[in-house]
Amino acid sequence: MGKHSKEGGHPPTAALPLRNKVVAAVVAGGAFAAVGQPLAAADDQPGVPERSAAVNPLSASKQLSLAVSGTSTSPASVKLLAPETSTDSVAESRQVDKAEAIEQQHEEAERARQEAERAAAEAKRAEEEAARKAANGFVKPAEGTFTSGFGARWGTSHKGVDIANSIGTPIRSVAAGTVIDAGPASGFGQWIRVKHKDGTITVYGHINTIDVSVGDEVGAGEQIATMGNRGQSTGPHLHFEVIEGGTQINPVPWLNERGIEL
Ligand SMILES: [Zn+2]
Repeated sequence: MGKHSKEGGHPPTAALPLRNKVVAAVVAGGAFAAVGQPLAAADDQPGVPERSAAVNPLSASKQLSLAVSGTSTSPASVKLLAPETSTDSVAESRQVDKAEAIEQQHEEAERARQEAERAAAEAKRAEEEAARKAANGFVKPAEGTFTSGFGARWGTSHKGVDIANSIGTPIRSVAAGTVIDAGPASGFGQWIRVKHKDGTITVYGHINTIDVSVGDEVGAGEQIATMGNRGQSTGPHLHFEVIEGGTQINPVPWLNERGIEL
């Protein structure tokens, strides 16, 4: 509506606002200046209201008509042209209104498009968030080299898996849970045990430093310790166990089922 603000100063005649747009269009197009002179005669015609050419929409309409025809300055010619011009003016007014309507439609369409884009982006974010949460349900206990699997080893049974890396490598809780042990443990040097919601316990042995305390709630992927070489260990590594129903099980398939590859 900003375009219409100029109309505020004119008399509140119903027909005027539409015509004024035409005047503005003519002046803007340069036609007014080109044919201003001949039209003094036209304004002297009986029945044509005496108004300043600068603000008289009818006069301006005639000027437009003459500018287009480019012929006579005689009153007769002007009289003949006047109705036609008036029709043109209305048509032009309609065109202006139509253009505005189209512009408004475009603006509305643009708004709708932006709204749809926002909604799509929002949905995508929510989907990614859900995927990330699902993925974060379980994580690797540590980055490193898988050096020893679960099972018989050196005449005994290795009840977990070993992941070797340098001392200080972060060790993370594979899932959310509660810390039930954090400290010295025979053979492990130091260990942390985390009990998860379903009762499964995960064990982290030979750790160098301990970042949590018994009773702490930890999230999946939360750092709980750093890798060490304590206890019965032949090099810096994490000894990782999964205990289900009081028995150590092979952590590899257990993790695989949860989307984690060691
Ligand atoms: Zn081990």
